[in-house]
Amino acid sequence: MTETKPENKKIQAAGTFKKIMADHFLQMDAAAADPKRKVAWCTSVGPAELLQGLGFEVYYPENHAAILGTIRKADTYIPYANAVGYSPEICSYLTADVGAFLQGFTPLKRAYGIEAVPKPDVLVYNTNQCRDVQDWFMWYARHWKVPCLGIETHRNVGEVTAEHVESISAQLKKLAQDLAPIAGHKLDMDQFKESVRLSQQCSELWEKVLRCGTAQPSALTFFDGTIHMGPAVVLRGMQVAVDYYQDLLAELQQRIDQRVAAVEGERFRLYWEGMPVWGRLRTLSDQFLELNTCVVASTYCNSWVFNQLDPDNPFDSMARAYTELFIVRSDEVKEDYIARMCKDFQVDGIVYHDARTCPNNSNCRYGMHQRLSERLDTPHLVINGDLNDMRCYSDEQARTNIEAFVEQLGQG
Ligand code: SF4
Repeated sequence: MTETKPENKKIQAAGTFKKIMADHFLQMDAAAADPKRKVAWCTSVGPAELLQGLGFEVYYPENHAAILGTIRKADTYIPYANAVGYSPEICSYLTADVGAFLQGFTPLKRAYGIEAVPKPDVLVYNTNQCRDVQDWFMWYARHWKVPCLGIETHRNVGEVTAEHVESISAQLKKLAQDLAPIAGHKLDMDQFKESVRLSQQCSELWEKVLRCGTAQPSALTFFDGTIHMGPAVVLRGMQVAVDYYQDLLAELQQRIDQRVAAVEGERFRLYWEGMPVWGRLRTLSDQFLELNTCVVASTYCNSWVFNQLDPDNPFDSMARAYTELFIVRSDEVKEDYIARMCKDFQVDGIVYHDARTCPNNSNCRYGMHQRLSERLDTPHLVINGDLNDMRCYSDEQARTNIEAFVEQLGQG
């Protein structure tokens, strides 16, 4: 461990990040107040490009729920969702978000002066990540008496076949038809293709940003990624996200050229598998910094890389891109993916976050961590916790385990 307390390296693009995220929320607030504009809620890996092609303003509740976690308000509001029948064992994004809504709380008020989340005209999900998103959206659909539509995806997919793509593509086409009366007009194919084009560009740039973690020393950390992924989630399909990642990439490229390390004196490099612990981002980032250990890559941040998108073939390419997602795939495909990532990023160990309320993003429950450690001859650590519900997370235990793990790496 370093003697003097090291400091987190500031990313200059953070100023632009704050501004474009603020603009996004303010725009959403204005759209909700304007009867001529339509708002669609969308899951984080839902069909955003299609919604943009139909002229909807697109709002992402998972982003809102993650903010609740980051400002450590999730624990306050989860019990209110439990009280209306939503178990403490299900997604704590869902319970924190619904609980906060029931209590009339949103972090957007303090941050941007926005009184409430934007009332949707429609809610659109894709079950590619989990069933919880559908239940979550259905709660709001019942509350506001607005339609809730979605894509029912395949699960546990090995090779993504033409049949998978065809069936999801057909659902997307049907969805476009069903959404048209809500939007007030038919899908604008030019706008749709443009959105797919911009989303594809955003995705390519975001991937390049993340691959700055392959540099030795790494130019960014997983914790940087969890913040700067915001535009890839909520602004994909828009020029502003493309511009943002061009700037961020240039900044990180400069770091690489000058051999500027995100973690001073980088001794070890780790891979993070699973959800972030939103309520402890800073604590964890500081601890790894003090241990001169850089978490260089993650499955989570890479979940918004949709390389298959193709504006010339928007329906099929969307169907493929949103089915090739890590979370949708079989364990064999997931293991191959993590193995590739560990090799590319040259990691010394893997940290698995077993998030109590998200089995979908916790890949250490069916032996994958053991199998991969054997296959890669790479040690692993399991941290028990949660994405939002900090009652499931022990600071003491996590701190001690991480310390011991890094010490063990030093002896290896
Ligand atoms: S994938 Fe996990 S964290 Fe995300 S919405 Fe589903 S249950 Fe919640």
